[in-house]
Amino acid sequence: MVKEKKVRHLLGISGGKDSAALAIYMRDKEPDMEYFFADTGAELPETLAFVDLMEDYLGKEITRLNAGRDFDYYLKLNGNFLPTARSRWCTTNLKLKPFEEFVGDDPVISYVAIRADEAYREGYVSTKSNISAVYPFKEDGLNKDDIVKILDESGLGMPKYYDWRSRSGCYFCFYQRKVEWMGLHENHPELFEKARQFELYHKNKGRNHTWSENESLDEMLMRKDEIKAQALIKEQNTLKKPKKLMDSLLDDDSDDGCMICFK
Ligand code: SF4
Repeated sequence: MVKEKKVRHLLGISGGKDSAALAIYMRDKEPDMEYFFADTGAELPETLAFVDLMEDYLGKEITRLNAGRDFDYYLKLNGNFLPTARSRWCTTNLKLKPFEEFVGDDPVISYVAIRADEAYREGYVSTKSNISAVYPFKEDGLNKDDIVKILDESGLGMPKYYDWRSRSGCYFCFYQRKVEWMGLHENHPELFEKARQFELYHKNKGRNHTWSENESLDEMLMRKDEIKAQALIKEQNTLKKPKKLMDSLLDDDSDDGCMICFK
């Protein structure tokens, strides 16, 4: 008789607040939980430090995926064309494929950190029939405030990059706002410079590629004060307005983009 494979319980840590809170929330509920982190090789230092902290807190290994195959490897494979929102080979190669390889043919329950106040989202759901997704926050009615409380009460708090950036993910992520690029420049000038070199490489090849729409990093830097002032005004206006559905949809950490990277 063929023995049935044991169901694996998997929870991906992205370096963002929601997946961290879910790991804390589930720690004592599912003793067989396996944690993983798909490291793109272009993570912020704050993210890596936070994942190490999480590992200590959880008392279990967080398996690092992608070892030996980082962003630079896939950049070469893609003819040195940088990823964009329309051509997101980065997510496919650095997040989805390593996850599906990690799963293999095992029956898996994947724990997804979508909150109850994000009922309109589904997150990444694999098309592989052996993976089924569950949404504990949605099912238990936990929203953004609850997630912040879980992190505070654990003693871990929010990842440090939240001081200047609203999401985890690669330092050069094309989804980040202009003001976040300015934050990268202030907090990690060497990473900003690396991102700038990618743009210059394209420029020298006669191609016009900018990480942020219609504006190079050099152009952005020239109007740094203006970008910061505009972001401040926007933030103040958002605080004044009562929240409508549209405001929630546009909430700082809630735009789509890369659910598997930012959760
Ligand atoms: S964080 Fe951004 S750049 Fe990195 S894999 Fe995700 S979408 Fe691509």
